[in-house]
Amino acid sequence: ESFHDVDMGEIIMGNITLSRYSRPTPVQKHAIPIIKSKRDLMACAQTGSGKTAAFLLPVLSQIYTEGPGKALQAVKENGKYGRRKQYPISLVLAPTRELALQIYDEARKFAYRSRVRPCVVYGGADIGQQIRDLEKGCHLLVATPGRLVDMMERGKIGLDCFFVFLTISLSELTRAMSLSYLVLDEADRMLDMGFEPQIRRIVEQDTMPPKGLRQTMMFSATFPKEIQILARDFLDEYIFLAV
Ligand code: AMP
Repeated sequence: ESFHDVDMGEIIMGNITLSRYSRPTPVQKHAIPIIKSKRDLMACAQTGSGKTAAFLLPVLSQIYTEGPGKALQAVKENGKYGRRKQYPISLVLAPTRELALQIYDEARKFAYRSRVRPCVVYGGADIGQQIRDLEKGCHLLVATPGRLVDMMERGKIGLDCFFVFLTISLSELTRAMSLSYLVLDEADRMLDMGFEPQIRRIVEQDTMPPKGLRQTMMFSATFPKEIQILARDFLDEYIFLAV
């Protein structure tokens, strides 16, 4: 059992070594191949199980091996948005600022030298600064639901990544959209904190690629009725994993 069982690209593999992770935890061992095979996933895993790397590694490796900015490249080739900045092509929702920051730190560590740029936004901090950071370009956005909705309402982010694609051809659109990843981390905790309306606002907005055209992964410590409903609504023929 080793991280080398799945090829995640030289740079990501090098970063795993740098991070001194010698062997995958059970959730990593099972989730990484599932995510790499592009299936939707519902994973029941506790904090401390290594779930963060379980989704970050395959998502970062997919962004990286398919080429950072490939989605936008499609738009550029189309000639309409020559100087467009990079919009997020993967989104991770997390319940708290602390967790969002932890995920972001781990993402930075694993994205080192890959040209994949992670960003993080959360409540209780200067929104202007977060917007300026996003405007520098972002491949992977880690966000708390409240702050992201706040930004959408200001029209500042609006997940423009998805808006942009609406003006290009359908084939271009699906090509671009097939590169998008959505992760809900600690989904049960987000619901406990009352974030369901915000999560639905984000996931069910017109410009979000529908399930089947995006890859969606949900992580939760528990699997009560409300999470089952969310999984039914957000995931496409998903694999259920409990560790
Ligand atoms: P998480 O459950 O993702 O919050 O991870 C819990 C802690 O375990 C974090 O400090 C990680 O950096 C660490 N960790 C995750 N995966 C591994 C691994 N394969 N080897 C060693 N440490 C790990």
